Parts: sequence; structure tokens; C-alpha cells
Amino acid sequence: MHLVFFGPPGAGKGTQAQGIVADYGVPQISTGDILRAAVSNGTPLGQQAGPLMAAGKLVPDELVIGIVEERLKERDCERGFLLDGFPRTIPQAQSLEVVLQRLGKSIEHVVSLEVPDDVIHERMKGRGRADDSPATVQKRLDEFRKLTAPLKAYYQERGLLRPINGVGTLEDIAGAIKRAIGR
Ligand code: AMP
Repeated sequence: MHLVFFGPPGAGKGTQAQGIVADYGVPQISTGDILRAAVSNGTPLGQQAGPLMAAGKLVPDELVIGIVEERLKERDCERGFLLDGFPRTIPQAQSLEVVLQRLGKSIEHVVSLEVPDDVIHERMKGRGRADDSPATVQKRLDEFRKLTAPLKAYYQERGLLRPINGVGTLEDIAGAIKRAIGR
């Protein structure tokens, strides 16, 4: 199972991804989690990414592409994977395609969690992550709309987009995802 979870910050990608990991045993690859670990370990990657993340901006494509390429080569990805928060730009999606082609793999479904902005703002109030202040959330939503939202058309054209209503109970949304990915 080769999946991408797509959606604005606060859409529930991480939460729903954990359910898929538990049910199907594929690893969740969250570029946000990997970057946060790099920041807290003070690595060169973390030093470069930290200020951008704190400002609600995307980190440069070449940084995240390198991370994902290395991660996808690991053994636990042989039977599949769930990408959570990657790709976030058209160049990232194009690089992903090249990397997967080299590995003899391809994306099967891009699960797009659809949640309106006012619901996002409401949800983020309760989260308490360093980049969850209202101003930073707005910046992250702006980045999403400008750089990430065009990926919907990109994956729609390739017949891979599975739009899911991301407003509802966790169980309802999980059920809709399973139906969309045919499991
Ligand atoms: P997330 O946990 O997915 O919301 O990611 C937190 C932050 O990490 C984002 O606001 C970006 O600054 C950075 N980030 C995570 N994934 C990516 C990506 N694929 N491309 C660029 N920046 C990313």
C-alpha cells in the first residue's frame, strides 16, 4: 500500500495516519516529525529548518526531498508506506515520482482530507505545538493555499486523488478513508 495523506495543517492527517499504520502495518513517514526531531537534536538540518518552521513557512524542497528519498530506501518501506505531510509542493511531487520509479514503486492513492479554514482555526486552539499560535497557523494556511493546494489538480490529473470530508467523528473519517483506498 503506497499512500500519500494530503491536507491543510490541522486536517487530521497525523491522527488518521496512525489508524492506517495500526490496521495495515505500513510505516508512517511524517516529514514534520522528522524535522521536529532534527530541531530538538540540534542537527545541521534542524538548525536550517527550525526558524522556517517556527515562522510557519515551508522548508526548502531539496532538504525534505533528501530526507524522504533516504527514508523510502529503508527495509520497512518494502511493503508500502504512508507519506504524511509530503509532498507539499509540485517540485516535491515530481521528485517523489522519480525516486519511486527508481525503486520500482508508485503512489496508489492520495487521500485528501478536506477541512474548512474556520474549523482548522478552532482545532488548532487546542493543540499547543510551538507553531500553532493563531498568526503562525494563518501563515501555514497561506503557504498551503499558495504552494501545496496546486497538488490537488496534479494528482487529480493522474487519477490518484481521493477527496475525503475531514469534518466528522474520527471513526466516520477513518471509514471513509478505508472505502476510498478499497480496504
Ligand atoms: P507538519 O507537522 O506536517 O505540519 O509540518 C510542520 C512544519 O514542518 C511545516 O510547517 C513546515 O515548516 C515543515 N515541513 C514539513 N513537511 C514539509 C514538506 N514536505 N515541505 C516543506 N516543509 C515541510
